Amino acid sequence: MSAGHTLLGRLLNRPPGLPDGPDSPLVQSVGLQVYLDNDGHVEHLSGPVRHALVQLTARPLTHLTDYLLPQSSLVVEGRPQDWQGQILDLDFFSQAGPPLHLRGWIEPRSEGWLMHLLDIGDLLSERRQAHSREQCQWLAGQIRDQLCQCSLVRLADVLGEQLQRVSQHLHIPCLAVALLDDQEQGWQIHQHYTALDAPQLWHPGQRLGTALDSLNSAAPQQLNASEQPRLSSVSGPHPGFAVPYCDARGVAAWLLCACYDARQQAPDLSDRDWQSLATAIAAPLLERLREHHHQQQLERLEILQALLGTGWWEVFDSAEVQLAKALADNLGLPATRLSLQDWFARVHPADRDELRSNLQSLQDEGSPLELCVRLQRTEEAPLMWYRVQGQALGIGAERRLVGFMLDISDIKNQQQQAAAAHARLDNLIASSPAVIYVQRYVEGALQPTFFSASLQPLLGWSLADCADGALVEHVHPDDRSVYFQRTRQLLREGTVSTRYRVLDQQGQAHWLLDEAKLLRDDLGLPVEAVGLWLDVTEATLAAEQVRASEERYRILVEDSPAMICRYRPDLTLIFGNRPLAKYLECAPEELTGVNLGSWMSDEQREAFNQRLAQLTPQLPVSTAEINLRLPGREHAWWVWSDRGVFDEHGRLLEVQAVGRDNTEVRRSQQQLTQSAKMATLGEMATGLAHEINQPLNVMRMAIVNVLKRLSNGDVQVDYLTDKLNRIDAQVQRAARVVDHMRVFGRRSEIEQQPFNPLDAIEGTLSLLSEGLRGKGVELRVKESGLQVQVRGYVDQLEQVLINLMVNARDALLSKREANRDFQPWIAVSAESDEHVVRLWVEDNGSGIDQRLLERIFEPFFTTKPVGVGTGLGLSVSYGIVENMGGRLSVRNGDEGARFCIELPVAVID
Ligand code: ADP
Repeated sequence: MSAGHTLLGRLLNRPPGLPDGPDSPLVQSVGLQVYLDNDGHVEHLSGPVRHALVQLTARPLTHLTDYLLPQSSLVVEGRPQDWQGQILDLDFFSQAGPPLHLRGWIEPRSEGWLMHLLDIGDLLSERRQAHSREQCQWLAGQIRDQLCQCSLVRLADVLGEQLQRVSQHLHIPCLAVALLDDQEQGWQIHQHYTALDAPQLWHPGQRLGTALDSLNSAAPQQLNASEQPRLSSVSGPHPGFAVPYCDARGVAAWLLCACYDARQQAPDLSDRDWQSLATAIAAPLLERLREHHHQQQLERLEILQALLGTGWWEVFDSAEVQLAKALADNLGLPATRLSLQDWFARVHPADRDELRSNLQSLQDEGSPLELCVRLQRTEEAPLMWYRVQGQALGIGAERRLVGFMLDISDIKNQQQQAAAAHARLDNLIASSPAVIYVQRYVEGALQPTFFSASLQPLLGWSLADCADGALVEHVHPDDRSVYFQRTRQLLREGTVSTRYRVLDQQGQAHWLLDEAKLLRDDLGLPVEAVGLWLDVTEATLAAEQVRASEERYRILVEDSPAMICRYRPDLTLIFGNRPLAKYLECAPEELTGVNLGSWMSDEQREAFNQRLAQLTPQLPVSTAEINLRLPGREHAWWVWSDRGVFDEHGRLLEVQAVGRDNTEVRRSQQQLTQSAKMATLGEMATGLAHEINQPLNVMRMAIVNVLKRLSNGDVQVDYLTDKLNRIDAQVQRAARVVDHMRVFGRRSEIEQQPFNPLDAIEGTLSLLSEGLRGKGVELRVKESGLQVQVRGYVDQLEQVLINLMVNARDALLSKREANRDFQPWIAVSAESDEHVVRLWVEDNGSGIDQRLLERIFEPFFTTKPVGVGTGLGLSVSYGIVENMGGRLSVRNGDEGARFCIELPVAVID
């Protein structure tokens, strides 16, 4: 029955026994009767309610309005007769405090008026309550809508707004939603709203433990849907209460209100209202959170699938297959749904039938599918390996074929690589020149359990031949103690490296390098030894040979008649053998640290260093004749061979040198040159006599003439002066010839000197030109004005030129003997380029017989009669030119022989 209906009933159905009419007896059992006079003064009160009114009896004439709250006095303005026919709602002051709400009407009495009033307070409060609840329902609806409709991103904000809304609507200072924590073990504050002036009780994520569970009479899981958990008040410094929200699994959330007394501040709200409010917040919140969680799960799953190259598949109607997007992408498929045929087409032909057949038995018998297949994305792309697994869900027509595919290309590739590596390793072990072996530890002994295949070709034994202690029998008897020692050391120290001889099947000994390692178990006990045998027979023998050859080498070096030494690039000796020390008149030990250069002249040392600078790793050897100045002794000539030793950057580290004393050879060479020179001189004696006779003749003529004039007494000073000058000139000319002869006759200098080759030509001509002319030989000298220098001895080059010209003269004269009309000539010319100077001596003496050309430089080769030719001229000349670093050659020209002296141009700093 509604509140309004109750009110109407109470108003219309007068209580039984209430008399009709104005003059009914005053005895009333309900409500309040107020007897008024015509002006509205209260004459008398009756009825049970009157005890609740404020007692105003002290005043005799009290007006009705004095009993009333000010706002209801408006209703009763004027006099009672004006109030007739109206329903009067009046609020009376009560003794208890809250006003009394009374409703009634007024009727006339014989004298005055009677007012009938009934208490309608409960009706009003019911209505207010209904209103509040309606508000509450509306609020709950709003909240639910907001929480349901907002985007997931805004959920937290919207929840905050809604909590604020509830808080403000119901004046709750602290309001929070608590949810189960991640482990679903206890409760934690999910979100809260705290009014500005309220204490900060909570923060998001705050753990509340399980205390809230105890607020429920029954454990959450035991609650059934019809049994709502109670609203529980919480006492303490911040009293409040907690409203549970239950879903199918029990209490899933709490709405917490603190610093709040619900009975007082929201008296109109029932437990159910609070629960529906909690439901309005918690149900959509949990729903949305679950949705969020689900979405995250999905995203994670998608990412995982994409990362692993994996995904689910499902077959529909045995005709089509649907693939997870990640899988379709990974396979390069344009769509996620495709026909089974197309799917199979992607599978490598070698695996296709197997997949088809397994899928069929999954369909027919439900036997689970598990297969590794190869798939091809595109024609060019490499094959990908997939593990395909599938299961049948449900039975009969409802059967679904579901499974997943996992990209295992990496694993497969690794497997293949590992297999290949394994095969390579096996191959390596088998083909290794070393024998790899394993020996098991059995009661203190090591028994062979494995030998690599290389044992057979090396020793001819098999594993069986070496098992059961037989191995030691193959060890060379002299080395068995070494072998036992090796085993003891291996067991004691864990590793060993030694060498001993093992006999092969033919009884031949092999030197084996044995390197082994002991493997132990977790307790440190020996399990087995792994090791290898390397046949080092050759190396061992070679090492012995090296030792022997080193010894031989040492003896060779020490006892060698040659001088052997090693020195640094700065010429400091590191080592010198006995002959070298003997030569230098000291002990071999004293040689170390001595500088080789200290025995050389500056020029020699410079030339020596220049030669060293030209050594390279490609051309590390250089040989030269060097000249040393040994204190207190004459010059020594050594034929010296240097060999440079270089580091990996091509830097010269040291030089190893072998030397031979060449002084004797040099000396006899010099003597030979000297005697050849003397021979030349003797040869030229005739020419010289002529050379000197010529000026003597001129002088004699001059003197005869002067004497003649003197005897005539016809002597003028001018005449005399002229004649004396002429004589002087001739004296100088003769002196020059004699001087040159002296110079030429001297031994050559030790050191080579730079000089202009034209000087040699000039010197030669000064000796020979007159003589040649006297013999009727024309001299053709081509002036060249050369300005280059060569290094050597000017007198020796002169000697060469003299030899060539004298030979030419001889050839010309013997030709003229046969032919009187013959016009002989000798041509001398010189030219030079950047590096080489060439001097030519040519004649028209018909040249040299082709067969003799190669032999004419041999010593003692001559075509001249005995006593005339020595056969030394050309061979000595050849030696001289070669000693200057040049070359003497001959060929036949147009009319006669053509000799060429080539000399290197000397670089003068
Ligand atoms: P010798 O002059 O004492 O015979 P050489 O060594 O000077 O010794 O000469 C060797 C030989 O070379 C000569 O005997 C001669 O036959 C030949 N020969 C040298 N120069 C010429 C030349 N210009 N023309 C022809 N023959 C020559």
